[in-house]
Amino acid sequence: MQKNWVTGFPRIGEQRELKKALEAYWSGKSDFDSVISTAKELKKRHWNYQKETGMGYISCNDFSLYDTMLDMALTLGAIPQRFRHMQNEELYFAMARGTQNAVAMEMTKWFNTNYHYIVPELSPADDYKLDATKIIEEYKEAKSAGITPKINIIGPLTFLSLSKRVDRGDTFELYDKIVPIYEELLETIGTLDNEVVVQIDEPIFVKDVTPKQLSLIKPTYDKLCAAAPNVKIAIQTYFESAVEAVKVFVYTPVWAIGLDFVYGEENFRVLDELAKSNKLLIAGVIDGRNIWKSDIDYKKELLEQIAQKFPKERIIVATSCSLLHVPYTLKYEEKMDSEIKNWLSYALEKLDELSLLSKLFFDEKLNEEEQALLTSNKAACLSRKSSPLIHDKVVQNRIQKINKWERADRFEDRIKVQHKVLRYKPLATTTIGSFPQTPEVRKARRDYKSGTITEEQYKQKMCEYIDKCIACQEECGLEILVHGEPERNDMVEYFGEQLKGYGFSQNGWVQSYGSRCVKPPFIYGDISRPKPMTVEWITYAQSKTEKIMKGMLTGPVTILNWSFVRDDMPRSEVSKQIALSIADEVDDLQNAGIKIIQVDEAAFKEGYPLKSSKISEYERWAVRDFKLCVAPAKKETQIHTHMCYSEFNDIIKTIEAMDADVISIETARSGNELLKVFAKSGYKQEVGPGVYDIHSPRIPSVEEIVKQIELLLEVLPKDQLWINPDCGLKTRKWEEVIPSLKNMVEAVSIVRAKLNA
Ligand code: GLN
Ligand code: ZN
Repeated sequence: MQKNWVTGFPRIGEQRELKKALEAYWSGKSDFDSVISTAKELKKRHWNYQKETGMGYISCNDFSLYDTMLDMALTLGAIPQRFRHMQNEELYFAMARGTQNAVAMEMTKWFNTNYHYIVPELSPADDYKLDATKIIEEYKEAKSAGITPKINIIGPLTFLSLSKRVDRGDTFELYDKIVPIYEELLETIGTLDNEVVVQIDEPIFVKDVTPKQLSLIKPTYDKLCAAAPNVKIAIQTYFESAVEAVKVFVYTPVWAIGLDFVYGEENFRVLDELAKSNKLLIAGVIDGRNIWKSDIDYKKELLEQIAQKFPKERIIVATSCSLLHVPYTLKYEEKMDSEIKNWLSYALEKLDELSLLSKLFFDEKLNEEEQALLTSNKAACLSRKSSPLIHDKVVQNRIQKINKWERADRFEDRIKVQHKVLRYKPLATTTIGSFPQTPEVRKARRDYKSGTITEEQYKQKMCEYIDKCIACQEECGLEILVHGEPERNDMVEYFGEQLKGYGFSQNGWVQSYGSRCVKPPFIYGDISRPKPMTVEWITYAQSKTEKIMKGMLTGPVTILNWSFVRDDMPRSEVSKQIALSIADEVDDLQNAGIKIIQVDEAAFKEGYPLKSSKISEYERWAVRDFKLCVAPAKKETQIHTHMCYSEFNDIIKTIEAMDADVISIETARSGNELLKVFAKSGYKQEVGPGVYDIHSPRIPSVEEIVKQIELLLEVLPKDQLWINPDCGLKTRKWEEVIPSLKNMVEAVSIVRAKLNA
């Protein structure tokens, strides 16, 4: 038995090699062979990294050209009809990205991470058939690279839970078709070697589990374990605790169970029972989804605590989840403050930690290098506890003394005053904030960052854009204007860059989906706002128009959810600090004469915990901090918020409790269904449902927008409705945006005329 276990490794490449190879191939600049050779090289490199750092269990099949859920669907032959005439890479990428004639499969968030997987589509009419080629080839590739890998696959119960049925039926009705293919797969895997370890990911059990899911554990895993006696099955869970499932898994013949002890503290509660079985415990103690250096002493202590309840000789030390969710290596971070860099640990550094930790835990002798690593680890953790870069007395005092947690006036009173001051008509028209980000705007931002142009030149260019943006909106006839957000590369990064306590990486890329990567900023210390962040741009824009200019901010929960967050303080406290900084900005904007301020909470829904028992706690502080950040707003200052496509059903009361005067939501793809939730719950504030989908270059006609508005009016009265497109105009071209908005405004005037008649 080996001592340590890497749940999975990132695959995009430390220089995003896979991304580049894929995109070159998709654009016709290279052939598929070059994608394959890049992939081979990456796999080999990643295996070697793990081998060199002394990792015991190293995975294969954690690699993917696009997504491992998609790979699993193909392994099972779960290919939707519209793709079935295709083959090989054509088929694979068509499923992922769509073609002219076949829309891509749906993509959605992987649990509470920012990774997105392809949602398998199942149909009772389809037959399924095993294709284990990829798995077999990757196993052999690893062997020829000198590694005997474990094989990672997504488990049948997670696969069925996360798939969807074309006819909306229950995916579990296809259990009898899918599970036999898994059996066959394990049989096939059994032929690869004398003994093979298979990591079967069943993270579905960290969510609220249904009796049905639980009841299927035993029959399923009895079968899978029987399929090939020489295959050792390890059940892998992550991101939360999986207590109920483990209580059932102990009665199956699986060989090991992987639990997350970083994000699933409750897993401690099941150790006694697990100890009574003969299973191994894969103890996930190195944080696989955050970028902080592990406090090795503390982690060792954690393992000792586990060992008090579970026999040490049956413990394997592991990462809490796949390292897919962290960047590769600090090696390329050349510009980062060295003190801050010293607190971080990316995937490669985490391998070293894992190796060091398992040696310490199992009382193995450290070599000189490891000794040095341990010493520097202790020093880094100590410096994090006291560094003035992190701990800011001023911020802490201010937090202690907060006395204004929310706006003074009730919505009913505020809205009357606002209508008097702002004088907008029913069905007032506006947009969500950004306008097309042209190559020139991007270039200006880049040139400014790299010092190629002066601040003055940069401002000039931004102001020119704002001028144009205002002129266009006036030409379209919009009523409440925006400045267009040309100065923002990203709605979180823009604010992060201006907040104290926020850090940025040079090469901290993390795969978001397919070839797409993001580089989340990170919060390392107490947050404060040294100076106004948006006031200059917004007041400039307001000075250029007679109409009302809406100020644009990003809310605390969204900033939090799209960043790596410090782990030495509860998220709710970090959120509070961000809220105070945003509150300062709200106050400065209104004092500078801005009458409407929008605070985007695009990621509010994304932040929800995986277990429903933890939801009310999240909602409590998330709502608290939204209210805190708009608390300075006077009654005549109108506060808007915006949320992207969400199911509002379960959370509508929470949305109402945020108490924004107006909320805009992304709804165009769902007709008036989302809005019905607002009406049904008696939602009282004003709402701007998106009236057209901006995800396609198509220009919506006046007639169809009229229809859409009339649908909305069936649900809510005109006085409660605003009219706007969905969010994301920044991804479109001006040629698409202008005629679309003109049509939207014309549609509104037609509807208004009808209403008046
Ligand atoms: N104000 C932002 C924009 O329009 C909102 C982005 C979003 O909805 N994710 O780009
Ligand atoms: Zn949005």
